[in-house]
Amino acid sequence: MFSKIVIANRGEIALRILRACQTLGVKTVAVHSTIDRNQKHVGMADESVCIGPASSLESYLDIPKIIAAAEVTDAEAIHPGYGFLAENAAFAESIEESGFKFIGPRADTIRLMGDKVAAIEAMKAAGVPCVPGSDGPLDDDAERNLAIAKKIGYPIIVKAAAGGGGRGMRVVHTEAALNNAIMTTKTEAKAAFGDGTVYMEKFLENPRHVEIQVLSDMYGHAIHLGERDCSMQRRHQKVVEEAPAPGLTEEERASIGEVCVAACKRIKYEGAGTFEFLYDGGRFYFIEMNTRIQVEHPVTEMITGVDLIKQQLLIASGEKMQLQQSDIKITGHAIECRINAEDPDTFMPSPGTINMFHAPGGPGVRVDSHMYDGYTVPPNYDSMIGKIITHGEDRITAIRRMRLALAETVVSGIKSNIALQQRIMNDQGFVSGGKNIHYLEKRLSEGK
Ligand code: ADP
Repeated sequence: MFSKIVIANRGEIALRILRACQTLGVKTVAVHSTIDRNQKHVGMADESVCIGPASSLESYLDIPKIIAAAEVTDAEAIHPGYGFLAENAAFAESIEESGFKFIGPRADTIRLMGDKVAAIEAMKAAGVPCVPGSDGPLDDDAERNLAIAKKIGYPIIVKAAAGGGGRGMRVVHTEAALNNAIMTTKTEAKAAFGDGTVYMEKFLENPRHVEIQVLSDMYGHAIHLGERDCSMQRRHQKVVEEAPAPGLTEEERASIGEVCVAACKRIKYEGAGTFEFLYDGGRFYFIEMNTRIQVEHPVTEMITGVDLIKQQLLIASGEKMQLQQSDIKITGHAIECRINAEDPDTFMPSPGTINMFHAPGGPGVRVDSHMYDGYTVPPNYDSMIGKIITHGEDRITAIRRMRLALAETVVSGIKSNIALQQRIMNDQGFVSGGKNIHYLEKRLSEGK
């Protein structure tokens, strides 16, 4: 195991990584921007290095500064968390070239999965079911594009190969709108991601978002840890996640899980990863693979008892994974509510100082948050200030525990989306389970 690592992130995930390190006896180096010097994990880390001003371009996204921090502190490895540089192949490559270990998959895997067109191609070759689509990038040949869309059938969705975070997508319902939509998405993708490559897919009208968590070591041993249902979304961003997915059968889980495990072996995947699928009419359609730990990983930890970050550290340090597929037993149900510093009605970010934070407790309640009394939420970064996760022997118990946990939580001084999460936990449709990815926005537009 490593003796010391750099945590190249901030907020709740930096704290989560620090906690995993401490249970393994690994020393930690926190890197932070000037505005983040009072972050909870910075105070708890063995060492800390200020890497620049508040602007993430000059701090959390500045590769040479992060590597320099590893050099001056004699760290051995770097954990990227999620967001920032977590899926940046050049970052993983520079880390390895500088003689450190990147805690995540190899750079070539990150590069492959970062290009959605190439990722879909690789997944198809590995036997993973994909959404019917253009089987490659679209060019400027309007006639050809019309023919492809006709074959797939409308509605279709035009997507940027380099897209992420729910950006770079456009739904097209008619032939007349197609080529214009392709041009606009290309221009936008070029501006946002520096790559104007786009492709098209069948737009599934009422799917659920169901994803499979995997772990795979350097020696070709891979397992899956079941699925998460992340269908409660707003603007393609997840709001509530749960595991297992309501209504999914043991057979369906085993069969899609085995497909993902086989794909990991084929691409020689290393570390923790997630295969994201749309689930419609009892079938899975691959949309993308995330080559990092995800925000929603705790729901899987709660139902399997596996510490995913600890596994990431073990795998990256070159150990053989001890866990076997038969060790993965799903117990009960877990739900995660993302807590954001934002207005619960308008969704406008609400940075500022938290006068008081009171965390919920009791059986089956987990809080992953960097908040504390007097903590100032800076306007510079993502508005997520924590996650509340509840676990119960069944789904309704997890929901009831979440209702109680949300009612116990106090975040004062800034606005938070707790009221929105309470509405969702009391919504009859959510309680009945298995709703599709459009459900939340539909309810919000009805003012419910
Ligand atoms: P990103 O990398 O930006 O997260 P994804 O490809 O994972 O992009 O898609 C994000 C979300 O967009 C999905 O969870 C789903 O809500 C919607 N989406 C993507 N592709 C399709 C599709 N073919 N049909 C319907 N919805 C889609």
